[in-house]
Amino acid sequence: KPSLVWFRDDLRVRDNPALLAAVADGAAVGLFVLDEASPGVRPLGGAAKWWLHHGLEDLRGALAGLGIPLLLRRGPAAEVVAEVWGALDAQAVYWNRRYGGPEREVDAAVERRAAAEGIHAESFAANLLHEPGTVRTGQGGPYRVFTPFWKAASARPVRSAWGAPDAGRGAVLPPALSAAAAEGAEAWGLLPEKPDWAGGLREAWEPGAAAGERLLEDFASGPLRDYAEDRDRPDMDGTSRLSPYLRWGHLSPFQVRDRLLSADGGPGSSVFATQLGWREFCWHQLHEHPHLATANLRPEFDAFPWAWPQDGSDEAALADGWRHGRTGIELVDAGQRELWATGWMHNRVRMVSASFLVKNLGIHWRVGEAWFWDTLVDADAALNPANWQWVAGCGADAAPFFRIFNPDTQAKKFDPERRYVRRWVPEAGTPAYPKPVVDLGASRRRALEDLASLRADRTPN
Ligand code: FAD
Repeated sequence: KPSLVWFRDDLRVRDNPALLAAVADGAAVGLFVLDEASPGVRPLGGAAKWWLHHGLEDLRGALAGLGIPLLLRRGPAAEVVAEVWGALDAQAVYWNRRYGGPEREVDAAVERRAAAEGIHAESFAANLLHEPGTVRTGQGGPYRVFTPFWKAASARPVRSAWGAPDAGRGAVLPPALSAAAAEGAEAWGLLPEKPDWAGGLREAWEPGAAAGERLLEDFASGPLRDYAEDRDRPDMDGTSRLSPYLRWGHLSPFQVRDRLLSADGGPGSSVFATQLGWREFCWHQLHEHPHLATANLRPEFDAFPWAWPQDGSDEAALADGWRHGRTGIELVDAGQRELWATGWMHNRVRMVSASFLVKNLGIHWRVGEAWFWDTLVDADAALNPANWQWVAGCGADAAPFFRIFNPDTQAKKFDPERRYVRRWVPEAGTPAYPKPVVDLGASRRRALEDLASLRADRTPN
């Protein structure tokens, strides 16, 4: 009897414990379920769908090389997975764990169903270096501040990455399933058609594990050395651009960490390792707070007078100008246009642009979070909301609200020759470029007044 590997955010054959377990049993069959039906599961954004389409093609190719078929199904995952193991007469189902609230409920339902039907179900830790719930304070609670979190996490042992399984252990599919195996992700309509806005994404990215591994290699043997200095410069290729590969699990963090440890990266290595630590910290937050994308981690911010744009309002027009890079603030517009064109934005510019929306325009962070969710190829259920909350000041270990980025100062510092701005906003500095939609100084003062009023409201009489 075959065993089923249920792929989710782990579209790789290397360092994939669920796949290794299935192959160790004998014949294996892969399955991916596009789940837009289970309660609470957040539908993918447009750029993520584009990536997923190509990521699945890549996974299918890699599995075919091992003689393992990949089935693609759509529907509520708990039911679909059980249907498939029924049709296959499978003996076991394996997956790598995920940590969002609704996803964990789906996985628990699959486990219950497997137990009821006498199917062996087993899950593995594969997508984070440290399993959520394992890094605890002396009192046994979660860390709320990054530095002690990462210090405690870094003292824990971490395994090395595993390889890919040997070829030749795939299952022969029953006829009812082999037609489904032949069906590609095309049927899901994940790619944009009218209009096809993905040209810039195609130019910027090659989704899949092989491309991710190459990028990791190139980064570790080059820019890593100068990462500590260059990572804040959007005008340079100073960062790894591994985020979508980690998001989709084309690469595991164990693979990235192993390569890092073997690289001669100097101070770049530890700074880069800390960024992987932030990734862990965000996921531990989501595990602790399943509503990270919708609820302020600091409830005192529930009373903050952020605008929630209504159709046709001034705020709606401001939000739209921000989305499409028409704020008249050069660095913000450059970032938003980079995002729209390529599905990615440099981290420094993400911070500046998010701060501008939330603090200078006074618009709710969830409006920006939703836009990033729709447009980023690395749109991540934990990293995106955790970072938005961090910038907005309402999250864990948040930058204090009163520390407000000045986008013009940031541009002078991190894009000193204006190469980044000129690349994305060629009309900057000409009469064709719009005036700023807000005065940076006045809007900053208003944000600080709003913060002060929030504090005053909370002062007990
Ligand atoms: P590198 O500098 O090479 O870093 C390596 C890896 O470390 C990244 O790939 C990422 O996995 C992790 N990392 C780096 N910075 C952070 C961070 N601030 N928080 C958590 N992990 C980090 N990243 C996403 O992957 N998905 C998102 O949806 C996302 N949304 C963001 C929203 C906002 C408002 C902000 C400020 C940041 C967001 N980030 C997000 C974090 C960061 O901007 C990206 O991970 C980074 O720009 C990706 O580029 P890179 O792979 O070249 O990064």
